[in-house]
Order: sequence, then structure tokens, then C-alpha cells
Amino acid sequence: MKFTVVGAGAMGLRYGVLLQAAGNDVDFVDAWEPHVTAMRANGGVYVTRDHEDRHLVPVNVYYPEEYHKQDRDVLIFFLKQMQLSDMLKRCAHFFNDQQYVLTCMNGMGHVDKLLQYFKPQHVIAGTALVATILDGPGEVDFVGKVGAGTMNLANYTEKPDDMTQRVVAELTKGHFNPTLTTNFMGTLMAKVVFNSVVNTLCTLFEITMGEFADYKGADDLARQLVDEAYDVAERMNVTMLNTRQEEMDSINYVSKVANPLHYPSMYQDMTHNRPTEVDYINGYIVKMGQACHYEAKTHAFLTHLVHLAEHTRQQNVTQSPAVDTVEQQELA
Ligand code: NAD
Repeated sequence: MKFTVVGAGAMGLRYGVLLQAAGNDVDFVDAWEPHVTAMRANGGVYVTRDHEDRHLVPVNVYYPEEYHKQDRDVLIFFLKQMQLSDMLKRCAHFFNDQQYVLTCMNGMGHVDKLLQYFKPQHVIAGTALVATILDGPGEVDFVGKVGAGTMNLANYTEKPDDMTQRVVAELTKGHFNPTLTTNFMGTLMAKVVFNSVVNTLCTLFEITMGEFADYKGADDLARQLVDEAYDVAERMNVTMLNTRQEEMDSINYVSKVANPLHYPSMYQDMTHNRPTEVDYINGYIVKMGQACHYEAKTHAFLTHLVHLAEHTRQQNVTQSPAVDTVEQQELA
């Protein structure tokens, strides 16, 4: 199949490189100049697995304005939520009516933006349960061995068609372990709720998932956030994939057993003084609540705390530029 990955950051590269290795024709479109320049100068992207076996993978990478191919079957979007609107505008000249889109970005907000450009029956979205780190321009680390991680995906229309099955087949060949569901909102919200607990609290306190889980009050903190999110989801008639208890169990399992040493991806943005996606995670739950006259007060409070932390770091950087030595693993 012909794929174009829009957003050749950590996850875009993981998906594109592995789909290319599985025999697909893959192009990348990206707007971060030092990264595109490095990949072009090096003749590809340097890939490591758990920071070992550094090797060069040739990739075709373009800036949005210079990319004009009209023959792509599927466009894969992997950007930070706040980058998407601008990138859609910059890429619209190569979109067409037949194309499908696939995205596993964290948070919510992206789907409505994609629907402004693509037919509802061509939108496939989901969640990626795997960690990847962009170590710098032209350098990416795939966390975990080949076949690590899983993903869930669903059609916006909740009606899988032949093309969806072909996409799932290619993702399977790429060792992404996809599960196709027919519950669109429930699939996406499961990760929003997970991230609203683990990403946000670990980022605020600059701790790993294991350190969070070790705190004796971790379950109480998680329960309050899960309950609020589920109260909202129920009022909005979203059928969640998991029960409240299953969501709690998943938070516990991932934090204690699967990834205790990992820092969540939001932590990476915070420690690099970049804006976080909190408005699309906890903030999204708050907005959903407002739509059904429910105040998700704890999520609103946490959204403020993350913005306060972003603001404080920004002030400190302005006053005394710090050398950033953080080199940590991130997790979805
Ligand atoms: P990323 O930050 O690595 O890349 C996203 C875009 O930002 C790319 O276009 C990249 O070139 C650009 N970029 C990266 N660093 C930049 C810089 N310093 N200055 C300017 N531009 C820069 O993002 P990602 O980790 O691939 O995440 C994409 C989406 O996938 C997000 O919604 C994220 O939450 C989600 N996600 C990430 C992971 C993960 O482990 N990284 C896992 C699951 C889901």
C-alpha cells in the first residue's frame, strides 16, 4: 500500500519505518527544519531499539509545500494535537476524496479537525500502546523489542470495510499488534482516561509510573479521576471499552508491572519546555463535562496545574536558559 506519514516525529517514524520494512511504499512529510535537514543530509533516519543497534534507515522526507503526490492510499497523522490544524492547512493540496486517514494521537480534538478534510467513512483512529522517543533531529529510539506494544483502532463510522481490513493487515505485518473494534469513542476514551491519570500526575511530580504506583494513595488519586471521567462519559452516552474497575486495573498493571521505569510522553514535553497536550486530555474531559452540565472539577484543577508548571518553566527559561540534560524514556 502507499502510505504518507504526516508528522515524522517519534511515532510517525515508528509507524512509517516499520510499514516500509513490511513492504509498503512510505513517504514522510514534516515541517521541523533541523530534523528534515538531518535526515536528508544523512540519507535517512538513525534508528535504535532501546538505545542499541543504531542503524540508518533510508526514508523519503518532504516539507508539506514541496509534496504533491496524489496517489497515496492512506495518510497517517502523528502530530502533537496543537500542531494539527496548521499542518492540515499546509498539506491540504495533496489530499483527495479517495484517501483514508489513520491516526493514533493521544488526547481528543484531532478527529473533528480531520473530519473537516476527509470523509467520515475514511477516518480510522485509535490508540497506540507503545513508547517511542525522538532523541534529536534525525535520531529515533523505538522502545521495546520487535512486536512490543499493541494498538486499538476503530472506524469513525464503526463500520469496518475492505480498506480498513487491508490497513489492519499491513499493521499486523509491521508487528503493531492491532485490534479493530467497532466502538469508536470507547476505544479512544480508554486511552484519554489512562493518560489523564498517569501522564498528568507523573508529569506534575516528575516521577516514573512505578514511583506513582508506589505511593500508597495512588489508587485513591486514580479512582477520583477515573470516576469523574466515567461520570462524564456516561452522561454523554459513550460506551467505554472497560468498566471503571478494569480501567483502574489497567492503570495499576501498566504502572507497576509493564512500565514502572518509564516517564510518560507528557513529561518529555514538559521537561523540554514544550507545550503539553493536557488541554486535549484532562481538558477534553472538562469540555465534555460542560456539554452535559457536569463539572469535572479535578480534571479542571489538574489542567490548571499543568499549565502553571508549563508557565513556571517558561519563566525560568526566560530568566536563565538551562541546559537540558534529561534523557528519559517516554510512554504513551
Ligand atoms: P513528536 O514530538 O516526536 O513529533 C511530533 C511533531 O513534532 C513532528 O512533526 C516532529 O518533527 C515535531 N517536533 C519534534 N520535536 C520538535 C522540536 N523540538 N521543535 C519543533 N518540532 C518538533 O511527537 P510524538 O511523540 O510522535 O507524538 C505524536 C502523537 O502521538 C501525540 O499525540 C502523542 O501524544 C502520541 N503518542 C506518542 C507516543 C510516544 O511514545 N512518543 C506514544 C503514543 C502516542
